[in-house]
Amino acid sequence: MKRVPTANWSESFHYSFRDCLYPSSLEAVCVTVSQASRIKVLGSRHSFNGIVDGDVALSLAEVPIDPVIEADGKHVTVGAHSTYGELALFLHEHGLAIHNLASLPHISIAGAIATATHGSGISNGNLATAISGIEFVTGDGSIVKAKRGDPDFSGMVVHLGALGVVTRVTLDVRPEFQVAQTVYEGLAWDSLLANLDGIMGAAYSVSVFTQWAEKAGAIWLKSTAPSDDLPAMLHGAHRSTEKRHPIIGLDPRNATDQLSEYGRWSDRLPHFKMGFTPSNGEEIQSEFHVPREKGAVAIEALLSIRDKFAHLVQVVEFRTTAADELWLSPQYQRDTLSIHFTWIKDQEAVNVAVGHVEQALSPFDALPHWGKVFTLGNIGARYEKLADFARLRDRMDPQRKFSNPWLEKVVFGAS
Ligand SMILES: Cc1cc2nc3c(=O)[nH]c(=O)nc-3n(C[C@H](O)[C@H](O)[C@H](O)COP(=O)(O)OP(=O)(O)OC[C@H]3O[C@@H](n4cnc5c(N)ncnc54)[C@H](O)[C@@H]3O)c2cc1C
Repeated sequence: MKRVPTANWSESFHYSFRDCLYPSSLEAVCVTVSQASRIKVLGSRHSFNGIVDGDVALSLAEVPIDPVIEADGKHVTVGAHSTYGELALFLHEHGLAIHNLASLPHISIAGAIATATHGSGISNGNLATAISGIEFVTGDGSIVKAKRGDPDFSGMVVHLGALGVVTRVTLDVRPEFQVAQTVYEGLAWDSLLANLDGIMGAAYSVSVFTQWAEKAGAIWLKSTAPSDDLPAMLHGAHRSTEKRHPIIGLDPRNATDQLSEYGRWSDRLPHFKMGFTPSNGEEIQSEFHVPREKGAVAIEALLSIRDKFAHLVQVVEFRTTAADELWLSPQYQRDTLSIHFTWIKDQEAVNVAVGHVEQALSPFDALPHWGKVFTLGNIGARYEKLADFARLRDRMDPQRKFSNPWLEKVVFGAS
């Protein structure tokens, strides 16, 4: 008897699946999909809303991921359900890397690109921008392949699970690189707001963690350049001499190594180690992307209402992502500052707090992370390329086999 998943990773969202299908080859995926009336593909279940829900689920867990370095040595093709952690291990054997990772290596590639999952770095695009080729099984069981530069490719990568089963992806790779992680603590709010771009641009990838207390919090630098000469103080924050967890008070054992010690890119770019439970586990997440130039005023707006939400916050993280051309990416033609909330696991209270956050951020063109909790209704309408995406879906999924109520309401505006 195959397992039917009942909830997302943190068990904060409960699925209504009554069955889950586990095809074990590409051919079996084609047959399974062609015979189904409606289907929702599971990634690693790290999203927090109804983007993954439905009657019948499909898991690719039994399809081999078969990673292959392409002949040019600049690309890798792999089963789309591979996790970034699995891909990183394979790339390491070949001395290769991808440009960035999210806070955890446990998520699947297809699920991550579906929602424009990102890491940080003012010059780093989100994880979907590394995709140079994509293969789908569409509703009638046929295979559709596209590569960067093809018509509609830019609409296919941030796919929201709406276009078909993503079976294989090709990603840009580069020579393996080393990263050193250094934490600076005691950052003052004034300093953060006055130097936001300088702080966020201080290394290859930078995160600022806050709990909305008297001080803003800590800066986490992930540096590719030699870190030997990093200063003792950075914008008034002091260099930590102990290893930290992003959530103050939690055991830093699960967190990736710090104290400026160089290590493999894949062991430093995420905050959490592969073999451990990432983050807290007992949590709900929300995230809002604002244009980077409005970042400081957006943070100030939140500071002015922090009494309405801070009591529910485990930690908030600020990150940056570079602009791209992917139709449903929150970074479509804009550099962003992302404001990420790890909430305590109290959905009702969190929904109220999220409403306050959304109201405070409304003057700043904020777009929610597709895979996290938000209360705004129709988000699709805020995207310039929605009509193109709708036409693409009409072509790729005319029968709406991959639809669900969340997609129809949040993306396509059904009431
Ligand atoms: C602890 C934690 C840390 C996180 N850190 C970050 C972070 O650093 N940055 C960030 O941006 N986000 C982060 N997230 C959010 C997470 O990256 C996104 O929600 C992502 O979409 C989850 O990927 P998944 O593989 O779990 O996909 P799921 O949540 O399972 O699915 C997401 C969507 O993808 C579709 N899908 C999945 N696989 C396929 C496939 N093969 N074919 C077609 N459709 C498919 C699903 O149907 C669904 O529509 C985090 C989440 C958690 C729980």
